[in-house]
Amino acid sequence: MTPTLSFHGAAGCVTGFCAELRTSNARVLVDCGMFQGSKTLKKLNYDDFPFEASRIDAVLLTHAHIDHSGLLPKLMRAGYTGPIYATAATRDLCEVMLADAGGIQEAEVRDLNRRNQRRGRPLVEPIYTARDAKQLMPQFRTVKFGEATVIAGDVGATWWPAGHILGAGSVAVDIDADDGPMKLLFSGDLGPGGSEFVAEPEAPSGFDHLIIESTYGDRDRIATDPASRRRALAAELREAHAAGGPLLVPAFAVQRSQELLMDILEVMDSGEAPAGDVFLDSPLAIRATDVFLDRGWNRTTERNPFESLRHSPHLRYLSKPAESDTLDRLKGWHIIMAGSGMCDAGRIRKHLKRLLWQRECTVLLTGYQAVGTLGRLLSEGAERVSIQGDEVRVRARVRMFDSYSGHADAAGLVAWAQGRGPISGSTFIVHGEPEASAGLRDRLAAVGFPAERLVIPAIDDRFRLTRAGAESEQTGSRRLPSEAAARLDWHNDRAAFLLGLNAALEQAPDDKAREALLRRMVDALGVDPDQGAAGLGPAV
Ligand SMILES: [Zn+2]
Repeated sequence: MTPTLSFHGAAGCVTGFCAELRTSNARVLVDCGMFQGSKTLKKLNYDDFPFEASRIDAVLLTHAHIDHSGLLPKLMRAGYTGPIYATAATRDLCEVMLADAGGIQEAEVRDLNRRNQRRGRPLVEPIYTARDAKQLMPQFRTVKFGEATVIAGDVGATWWPAGHILGAGSVAVDIDADDGPMKLLFSGDLGPGGSEFVAEPEAPSGFDHLIIESTYGDRDRIATDPASRRRALAAELREAHAAGGPLLVPAFAVQRSQELLMDILEVMDSGEAPAGDVFLDSPLAIRATDVFLDRGWNRTTERNPFESLRHSPHLRYLSKPAESDTLDRLKGWHIIMAGSGMCDAGRIRKHLKRLLWQRECTVLLTGYQAVGTLGRLLSEGAERVSIQGDEVRVRARVRMFDSYSGHADAAGLVAWAQGRGPISGSTFIVHGEPEASAGLRDRLAAVGFPAERLVIPAIDDRFRLTRAGAESEQTGSRRLPSEAAARLDWHNDRAAFLLGLNAALEQAPDDKAREALLRRMVDALGVDPDQGAAGLGPAV
């Protein structure tokens, strides 16, 4: 048969990457990521897979980030018993990250079920538990960069450093197709290069089809070398210190936290920034740090660049919730790093709720903030936000500090793609919001990639792969209309509406005006005031 390639995630959005490759003798997934961001997207995590899990022969994993690996335990629960190929560092990071993701889902479902019980609604199950994640681990098979591995049937694969996070790779797939060999390259997430902390991206050239991420496909960042990045960080720390309060850093637990900690310790030690206690308040980041100390050895420099995270007089690791609670009593200058990086889960939410209203506090966002997350709202200057059901006024200084991004910018993506040429068939642009993917398409066309062979797939799109290009196959089974993936959904509109209503009520001159406003709202909604909310139909 002609090989086919389907995109079941990170098509029209940046999360949930999962590609399904079918050949004459094998069905292989590249990644099996979790959707993050808006509730519309997250709902997909609960739906059935759009393929039969038990019929998949192998999974090739590019890297450990949850938006690439996060549904693997669900795949196992759905009947997948085959191998998961990944580098050793990716395997070790998955061990801590998937267990953590399972724990988060158990906690979220506990809260949701408490509410469901009160409302007389059916109870729900977590997608998977920490225990499921643990049970999955024996299915991992480790691979080495640059060494070809026989995967299944007529499929082989080789991992190449992607320069994104520890262990991350691009995956070259060789298919022994009926009419001759076919070569595909999945970029995975690509790093910017020039880092002291992660290997440079590299991969061979000459492929039939290229699948490339486009997170920053429409943006160029100012290139920063390590020294100027540390200078800029020291300036942020001095300003946060001058504001008089703590610095909150929503932490991306893997790679960025470790790099940021290294730099914070260095600018404190050198006297460029005021010294103080640095609390890593994230059990996940702490366990991930252990993997960096174990697996971070750099063959080129013959050292582990993270070594000083073992001992520093400033650094405090807080594993237990009780230790985290003691931070509430601290005053003045200190730094708290807590997950998650986009503020949509984890201990950072507790600290934000406690500190966002204080002018002395500074929040330092250190990376990409997906549509629909609290971090995105903060980065866009929201004056009020809702955290765990409470409205919180934002008076803290909110700063973006994007120098630790693990992603290549548009120029970097184009350069990487050019280095992989010639590409005889199609180039699929995935893993980006629509403007970003379109931006990369235009830039690739401008450097000579034939426009008719640049494809931006939508979720669940399937393509027949020939050496000359890809033909779209209508499957008629998209789980989302293509434009829905990146859009803010009505849940966000509701939150914004409620915050606006509260603000209008507060600003009204007196109670009479407030009652009049509420009456107008009730009229507009067509609610019978005697029935109250019941008049609105099912509660949402
Ligand atoms: Zn990633």
